[in-house]
Amino acid sequence: MPSPISLDIIIVGAGLGGLAAAISCSLAGHKVRILEQTRTLGEVGAGIQVPPNASRILAKWGLMPQFQKVSVSPGAIRLRRYSDGKVLSEQPFVPDAESDYGAPYCNVHRADYHALLVSKARELGIKIILDARVQEVDFSAPSVTLSNGNQLVADLIIGADGLKSHLRSLLLGRKEAPYLTGDLAYRVLISAEKMRQDPALVDLATKPMFNIWMGPNMHAVCYLLKGGTIYNIVLCCPDNLPTDINIAPAKDGEVEELFTAWDPRLHKLFRLAHGIQKWRLENSREIETWVHQEGKFALLGDACHSTLPYLAQGAAMAVEDGDLLGELLEKIQTKEQVPDVLKIYEYLRKPRTEYVVKSSTSQRDVFHLLDGEEQRNRDRIMLADVVMPGF
Ligand code: FAD
Repeated sequence: MPSPISLDIIIVGAGLGGLAAAISCSLAGHKVRILEQTRTLGEVGAGIQVPPNASRILAKWGLMPQFQKVSVSPGAIRLRRYSDGKVLSEQPFVPDAESDYGAPYCNVHRADYHALLVSKARELGIKIILDARVQEVDFSAPSVTLSNGNQLVADLIIGADGLKSHLRSLLLGRKEAPYLTGDLAYRVLISAEKMRQDPALVDLATKPMFNIWMGPNMHAVCYLLKGGTIYNIVLCCPDNLPTDINIAPAKDGEVEELFTAWDPRLHKLFRLAHGIQKWRLENSREIETWVHQEGKFALLGDACHSTLPYLAQGAAMAVEDGDLLGELLEKIQTKEQVPDVLKIYEYLRKPRTEYVVKSSTSQRDVFHLLDGEEQRNRDRIMLADVVMPGF
């Protein structure tokens, strides 16, 4: 049941988190505008994993039929030894994700995920204003001032402006930058059709499996996208970017050299790749609050909890934030209840997302073990659990 009062809500940022919040708040009966600094809508990057805690929200919004057309549900996750690809652990996703968590585990191209949320937002009448960079926020009014000087007033403002969030710094009254995790990710897309021409790669290109090779200080994540036509690879390694650059193209032969001692099949994949980019991975610091004391402003998504992607939960957490915000705002009877809603939102979301950020960092220790006693123990435990050995 939508709320009997309709708030005027401004969401800053049309990323996955901002769009999810907009959809949820609109379904709760509120009027939503999104302000986005870029001139065109879209998502940069390649594939993204959508775990069941996020896909079940898409299902709740009636988006599953369209989502399943553009996503792939991997049958299982296979954790492999780096040097030869031996399967150390296999955990089924199909049908287990649906039976255990009520929704499938999916892989999708970011652009398709984003386009789906944009189309739902437009269907709901949400206005997405482009080329609208928010420069200042008046937390009492509340209002925002854009870089062109225009001022927009609302009942509630949500800062969903991502990792480098300017609104986070305005809220805290100090420049609050994310910190370096010491890792970066190479992102690679390959034609699955080309892979199928090599007998050693046919299996990877044909079966929708989620594969992770684990090795010293690095891991490689691989899965099919776009109806199985594209193979997505993310290589997580120690950061080697110059300090002032966050994204850069990889040099010819760079990943081959880094992964010298790794599974020859990975090298066959690298030979099929073009235009590899590397991205620095940064984490948000835990901040004292996400909500302004006046109770008319809150942060959401990477703006307050960006994380290493090692549990594939960054965007999932942003979508959960947005979903909960709308669910809570659906229950309000008066505008005066908004500050309490924001307190509840923060109370419910902050511990969960802080836990995810910490757990994603700990996951690196498991993936990146150096060869030795600890690694052998890890592999022994995993092998004891293998459901379907063989590779
Ligand atoms: P963003 O996507 O950064 O959106 C912020 C938006 O705000 C942008 O559109 C920006 O232009 C806009 N903006 C910024 N400042 C302003 C301003 N002042 N005024 C107006 N607009 C502004 N997550 C998963 O769930 N699963 C995965 O498998 C996964 N894999 C990942 C792999 C890698 C290599 C990386 C780096 C991340 C991965 N993530 C994953 C994390 C995920 O990408 C992010 O958590 C998610 O995209 C954050 O969404 P957001 O909406 O909070 O922020």
